Amino acid sequence: MNTIPSSIAQATYILAMQFNPNNQSAEGGRASIAMELSAISAIAAMFNWKQQYHGHLTSGGSLSNLEALWVTIKLTQKNSILISHHSHYNIARLGSMIGANIEYIPCDIEGNWDMLWLADRLKLNDVGAIVLTAGTTGLGKVEPISKVIQLKLQYNFRVHIDAAYGGYFILADNLSEESQSNFSAITQADSITIDPHKLGMQPLGCSCILYKNPGDMSVLTHDSPYTYYDTSTIALGKFCLECSRSGAAAVALWATTQCYPLIKNGEFAFILSQMRNAALKLTYFFSHNKQFIYFKPDLNIVVFAPGQFITIKTSHYSNQLQQFLLSKKIYVALLTLDGHLISSDPALASEKITLIRVCFMKSEHNDFVETLCKAISEFMSTKYKVEHRDQLTEV
Ligand SMILES: *Cc1c(COP(=O)(O)O)cnc(C)c1O
Repeated sequence: MNTIPSSIAQATYILAMQFNPNNQSAEGGRASIAMELSAISAIAAMFNWKQQYHGHLTSGGSLSNLEALWVTIKLTQKNSILISHHSHYNIARLGSMIGANIEYIPCDIEGNWDMLWLADRLKLNDVGAIVLTAGTTGLGKVEPISKVIQLKLQYNFRVHIDAAYGGYFILADNLSEESQSNFSAITQADSITIDPHKLGMQPLGCSCILYKNPGDMSVLTHDSPYTYYDTSTIALGKFCLECSRSGAAAVALWATTQCYPLIKNGEFAFILSQMRNAALKLTYFFSHNKQFIYFKPDLNIVVFAPGQFITIKTSHYSNQLQQFLLSKKIYVALLTLDGHLISSDPALASEKITLIRVCFMKSEHNDFVETLCKAISEFMSTKYKVEHRDQLTEV
C-alpha cells in the first residue's frame, strides 16, 4: 500500500537525517518545524481548510487515528463510536484501548450504509463520533461522507475521516460523481487522518492528522519541564500524543510538496488519475467478460474473483489465479472477508471468502493493465476452464 518515495523525498530525508532534527520543540528543528507547518498547510488546503485548523505529522495512520479518537471522547464525553465493517482493523482496536464502545453500522453487500438505522441510533444522543473511511483498505470504497455530514445538521456528534489511504485522491480528475461529492464533504468533518507514506511518495513514518477547530487542541495541550524554552515559535510537540518526532520526515514531505504541488491538474494529481484509470480499465475488461465477479472501484483498488457468483469455491480459484500470476512475476494481493459482507447467500454468511485484490500504486501500472488482462484470460481459458468443467460434471 506504499508508493515508492519520490527522489526528492529520498534525497532530502537523507540530508536532513544527518542533523537528526526533532520536531517536538522549536529548538529541536527550527527549519524542519517551519517545513512541517508549510507542508501541513498544503495538505489542509486540499480539503479547503485554509486559516482555521490545526495539524501535525505523526509516525503513522494508526497513531493519527488514536489521537483523533481520544480527542473525540475527551471533547464530547460520549463513549460510543460508530464505524463500518470495512473500517481499517485498527479503529476497533484503538477504540477499545481508550475505552470507547465501538459499534458497527449495518451495510448491504454493495457496502451501502443503512442510513435509517443510523438516524435512529443517533437519537439516543450518546454517539461521540462516526468514523468514515475515504478509501477502505480492502475494497477501496469511499464511505457515504456527504450523507453523514447531512445528519450532522440534526444530531450532535463528531465526524472523523480516516483518509489514511485514499485522501490524496481528492485531487484526481476521474472519480465518480458520488465519490467526488463525498470527498468534497470532507471539508465539513471534524478531523482527518491522511498518510503521506501511503500515496504521498514519502518514506515510512509519515502520517498527518488535521483538526478543523484549533480549539480541539485543548485536550492535547501539555507542557514539559525540560523541553519548551523558545516561546517565539509554535512548539508542535505541545499538541501531540508523541513526544520526539522525525524532523527528517517533515523535510522530505515539504520538499516533495514543493516539487509536486498538491493541486488539481498538477503532476501529482496526474499520477493519481493514472492509477485510477488503471482500475477503470481493469473493470472495463471484467464488465465485458462474463466470467468474473468484481467490485466497482471507487479509487485504484480492484477486487475480483474468477466465476460469475461468489461460491464456496471462490477462495480456491482466487488462490489459484494468484499463484498463476505469480509464476508470471505479476504480484497481486488477496483479500479475505466474511461472507455476509459480500454475498446474500445464507450458506456463505459465516464463511471466509478470499478474493484477488489489485492495487495500482504507480502511474506505469496504467500501461500494464493489458498485460495483466492477458494473463488473467490465459488462466481462465486453461486452468480455470479445465477445473470448472470437472466441477460441473461432478455436479
Ligand atoms: C493503512 C491504514 C491505516 C493505518 O495506517 P498506518 O500508517 O499503517 O499506521 C489506517 N486506516 C486506513 C484506511 C489505512 O489504509
